[in-house]
Amino acid sequence: MARPHLLVVPYPAQGHVMPLMELSHNLVDRGFKITFVNTESIHNRVVASMSNSGDIYEDFIHLVSLPDGLEAEEDRNDLGKLSRSIIDVMPGPLEELIKKINETNNGEDRITCVIADQNQGWVLEVANKMSIKRAVVWPASAAALAAILHIPKLIEEGILDEDGIPIENQMIHLSPTMPAMNTAHFVWLCMGDLAMQKAIFKLLIINTPTIKFADYLLCNSCDELEPSAFTLIPNLKHIGPLFASSRLAQLWPEDSTCLSWLDQQPARSVIYVAFGSFTVMDKQQFGELALGLEQSGQPFLWVVRPDLTGDHTDVYPDGFEERVRSRGRMVGWAPQREVLAHPSVACFLTHCGWNSTMEGLTVGVPLLCWPYFADQMLNKSYICDIWKIGLGLDTNENGLISKEEIKTKVLGLLADEGIKENALKWKEIAKNSVSDGGTSSRNFDDFAEAIK
Ligand code: UDP
Repeated sequence: MARPHLLVVPYPAQGHVMPLMELSHNLVDRGFKITFVNTESIHNRVVASMSNSGDIYEDFIHLVSLPDGLEAEEDRNDLGKLSRSIIDVMPGPLEELIKKINETNNGEDRITCVIADQNQGWVLEVANKMSIKRAVVWPASAAALAAILHIPKLIEEGILDEDGIPIENQMIHLSPTMPAMNTAHFVWLCMGDLAMQKAIFKLLIINTPTIKFADYLLCNSCDELEPSAFTLIPNLKHIGPLFASSRLAQLWPEDSTCLSWLDQQPARSVIYVAFGSFTVMDKQQFGELALGLEQSGQPFLWVVRPDLTGDHTDVYPDGFEERVRSRGRMVGWAPQREVLAHPSVACFLTHCGWNSTMEGLTVGVPLLCWPYFADQMLNKSYICDIWKIGLGLDTNENGLISKEEIKTKVLGLLADEGIKENALKWKEIAKNSVSDGGTSSRNFDDFAEAIK
């Protein structure tokens, strides 16, 4: 019998393409085939990172692309502009694509369900119009989604104005058992200048109600990790933390030579340092980080993305590369899941993106938290205060995280037996959730059964 055919549409960013691809692999394992729709810009990067060309088919996953409406040279890190363009330009071509698929092979290949990233609400409207079943995936924590769904109430209570700006900065609790949230740290307020923040808030307001078109609402987390947040969104089903590293979702070419370098390091000695796909660091802060790693005396593997320091080149402190040659390794992009699971890795210095947080948690590696924006501050609260599997880095009076702070916290984390024990405990909890019979695994099975 032909496999049921699903269409999956992620938001065009690394931290969204990755979990939606992991979800796709899990669905292939359950007997589905997938058409995975990226924007052209993302598709070209995936293809380039694989040194491939043309169409890519693998394990019942077919990658296709549609234009996002921006010119090649336009800035796709301006998420407000990118999202507006996508909403204006992509619905028509997506509808055409689905029609074309549905007409091939006498309709035998028909799309039976469309699965969209929560940030792509317009996809649900297209699927709804075409009477196709719809699922939404929220690729971050349930707590972050709860905060967004609370926006109308926060405006009503006078905590936010109509543009999403806090009337005054304060700590609030969405529920008594969730960590306090700083109103200055809401997702949209940690991104770009005021104009960008307002633009992103407006998009959230437009996008969020489209959840009503969803037959299924899924989240890459599990109940055990954040039970109170799931209580706030009763129809949100957890199916994570998803496992399945995929070369079909990498936007930079992976440097896997770092794995053989890790093989040569002592067990549980290496600090793995990575800040995800968006974070940018100024030259001074970059220099402090380099010196902090050097002065920790530990081996380290540091992902220095080509755009990590923006346009700056020659960013390392004088003589740094020479001095750390024997125990430090810098790469442009790492196979992060494999790195984190390597027995030489002792801790993960992370920007606390949700995917990185889950990837660290599921292998039981203690985390050193350096959050920047979006949901990262909230994730840090869970890491440090709820699960107690990491420490936070504090800024000094000049707004810098100093080399002394980095050295002290790295060594403190490596010596903290309580945190190591907690990290192993949460690893087991997360693993059990996605193992056969676990709560996330059962939710996934129910979902797969429902859309067959
Ligand atoms: N990642 C990777 N190699 C790297 C750095 C990051 O494969 O060198 C992956 C990482 O495994 C994660 C994703 O990029 O799946 C980053 O997502 P996250 O939510 O942590 O952060 P974002 O990029 O959205 O800020």
